Amino acid sequence: MKTNKLANYGPQTKAIHGGEPNRRGVNGPIVTEIIRSSTFTFSSTEEMKLWAEGKNKAYIYTRYGNPTLTVAQKKIAALEGAEGAIVTSSGMAAISSALLAALKAGDEVISTAQLYGGSYRLMRDVFPNMGIVVRQVGMDLAGIEALVTPRTKVLYVETPTNPTLRLVDIHKAVAFAKKHKLVSIIDNTFATPILQNPIALGYDMVVHSATKALAGHSDIIAGAAAGNAVWMERVRQMIIYLGGSMDPGAAYLLIRGIKTLGVRVQRQGENAMAVAKFLEKHPKVARVHYPGLRSHPDHALAKKQMRGFGGMLAFDLKGGLPAARRFCDRARLFLLAASLGGVESLVILPIYSSHYNMTEEELRRAGVSPGTVRVSLGLEDKEDLIEDLKQALA
Ligand SMILES: *Cc1c(COP(=O)(O)O)cnc(C)c1O
Repeated sequence: MKTNKLANYGPQTKAIHGGEPNRRGVNGPIVTEIIRSSTFTFSSTEEMKLWAEGKNKAYIYTRYGNPTLTVAQKKIAALEGAEGAIVTSSGMAAISSALLAALKAGDEVISTAQLYGGSYRLMRDVFPNMGIVVRQVGMDLAGIEALVTPRTKVLYVETPTNPTLRLVDIHKAVAFAKKHKLVSIIDNTFATPILQNPIALGYDMVVHSATKALAGHSDIIAGAAAGNAVWMERVRQMIIYLGGSMDPGAAYLLIRGIKTLGVRVQRQGENAMAVAKFLEKHPKVARVHYPGLRSHPDHALAKKQMRGFGGMLAFDLKGGLPAARRFCDRARLFLLAASLGGVESLVILPIYSSHYNMTEEELRRAGVSPGTVRVSLGLEDKEDLIEDLKQALA
């Protein structure tokens, strides 16, 4: 046992044991404790001087680092197959800090047109004020070569996307980024490290909303970035500047949540497949967006680059917005709420949540229609979920 390297273990073993201190010996706790302290003592001014000179890695202040955060970071790094990880106060803190670690005024980003609403708004509303130009490319990356200029620095993609579960070809994106020496950043929230590991395929950085499947119980807001040691130090510096550090209490819940990530993702995937198949046959449903279905435009790509299809799906009702609203208002087991990846199944209308306030053109590009319902599958019994869908659609 002792000679086995963590890197050789499977993902669920890494989720449980990754980052945890050695637990052998008498009276050792099995669970990582919450170190609540905001500040940490030094034994001498000499030690403090060494810290200031960067010659020791002591904890000084929780925004800079904290032992509970370190465990969460090592666990996520192990799962993503990355040298390191940084945990943050939210997914958006991870995304903004990772992007700003790689960008300065005058630089350009190429991003996929379909993105989580918060990331899209950051690039649409904030980056232009900072002198950062964003160019969008379709999910198939068609015409991407024409978007490159000498100032292009970052390729930012999300796959699968919210809410229509479209995929980017990860191999193609990495090859393009390497050819043009771009920093490649990918939002891996929907897939989770259980279903895909972009770092192993050559990505520079992975970002997560750890609020979702990683924590898994809808009880914290949290984020993470993973990548090599150099990038993680740059992201850590951004967190120190901008203040998006994680609270140790949240880190405790994140560590606890991650331990069951593998079984949750598997169960959510089974529930999603059952629900997708049911919805696909329902006469009131116009279209189901689930990469596990053969009807999905990226089914073949999903089979190639993912180890499962995940617990998220969306569907369009023939009756448009009124039908979608009626369905959401009638659902009982499926709770009407934002967010995803938790143990409770949720439904939501993207036009009233992630895609609020977007123009018709923006919605069209995102593949969202007013009658689109997004579904996050939880861990309930699939028969009960399907009964609820039946009554809500009746
Ligand atoms: C929720 C989400 C985010 C934002 O994360 P927060 O934790 O809410 O800040 C980013 N990307 C994706 C894909 C998300 O689902």
